[in-house]
Amino acid sequence: MNKVSIVRCPDYSNTKRAIAEALELLDGLENIIHPGDRVLLKPNILAASPPESAVTTHPLVVASMCEFVLQAGGKPVVGDGAGISRPGATSKALKVSGIEEAARKAGAEVVNFETAGFALVNVPDPLQFRKLYIANPVLEADVVISLPKLKTHELTYYTGAVKNFFGVLPLKCRKEAHLLGKRDLFGEAVADVYSVVRPGFAVMDGVIGMEGNGPSHGKPINSGVILASQDCVSLDIVAAEMIGFDPLKIPTTVGVMKKGFGNQCPVVVGTPLKDVKMKFKPSSGGVSTAPSFLTHHLGKYYKIYPRINRRKCTHCGACHLNCSPHAIERLEDGSFRINEEKCILCYCCRELCPNNAVEIKKSLLAKLLTEMTT
Ligand code: SF4
Ligand code: SF4
Repeated sequence: MNKVSIVRCPDYSNTKRAIAEALELLDGLENIIHPGDRVLLKPNILAASPPESAVTTHPLVVASMCEFVLQAGGKPVVGDGAGISRPGATSKALKVSGIEEAARKAGAEVVNFETAGFALVNVPDPLQFRKLYIANPVLEADVVISLPKLKTHELTYYTGAVKNFFGVLPLKCRKEAHLLGKRDLFGEAVADVYSVVRPGFAVMDGVIGMEGNGPSHGKPINSGVILASQDCVSLDIVAAEMIGFDPLKIPTTVGVMKKGFGNQCPVVVGTPLKDVKMKFKPSSGGVSTAPSFLTHHLGKYYKIYPRINRRKCTHCGACHLNCSPHAIERLEDGSFRINEEKCILCYCCRELCPNNAVEIKKSLLAKLLTEMTT
């Protein structure tokens, strides 16, 4: 039986109490955390937005969960990789969202997926991807907990506990998933990620949600709840229904259920679902109406890629040694070159280079689009 707890939380001053109650209704975290476990808490840190814009999981939700993980004997680690448009976005998003400071004060380690390295793993029963690069901190964790924000989403209608794990991919894999060009196929790609990560718990920040043009341009809406579950799929079913969406039409939920996760009829404990139901305005965005071959073709011309500036490079080899997919090749003359085919766009090389020799180049289409969005 997959239980989902719902607890009213009218504002963030009640966060810790509400999460404590939501956990208590599910017999606490002690069932899933063993003393000494490394517990990765994965909030939604989509962009460099302050807490009041409701784009990211509220820092008080993250801080409270760090404290509860510590109480259960675990070592909290908070991490994510921000959205797909630019390198360096995660470190800014960690700061502006208030999550880095809140997590550190609560005793957690904070990791930036963009720069922590990735490992290539096999996907069990793949739907779209046989192999995926996954951020190392996720693979190194004993327990993974999703901390999503309750929001609408232009591509998946609703974004919650399952979709939250899209952030564990490097930018190249995210781009490939988006280029699938259809909601159901994208949902299957997220399901492939989910089947590798296999989270053990989820706590959703539904205190202030986002309706309309989510996940980043919608309107904050007071939804006043904390939801929790040992099963991310069940949590998503209940949360989607709560905001007036058909849970079984959410592409990520359909995708993970196709892979055998979740249960169509979760049991709600705590506040009855009917007492907190509301209607979120859906996103007016969505998949492109252009034919998928065209989207795919255009997508190939959207490139933001690293390039080594030979004049600045001192051949120290730090980037070469730390590139997860071994995309930085040493040439006969001792210099280095980035193999674009192998590069997964994690930008670790840029972070590591002591001489600022790794520069970011953009294709014309990327220049045009990123200028339009800054
Ligand atoms: S070349 Fe740089 S950006 Fe590309 S995969 Fe290697 S470390 Fe990441
Ligand atoms: S880390 Fe920088 S200086 Fe060192 S080899 Fe790579 S590009 Fe050159």
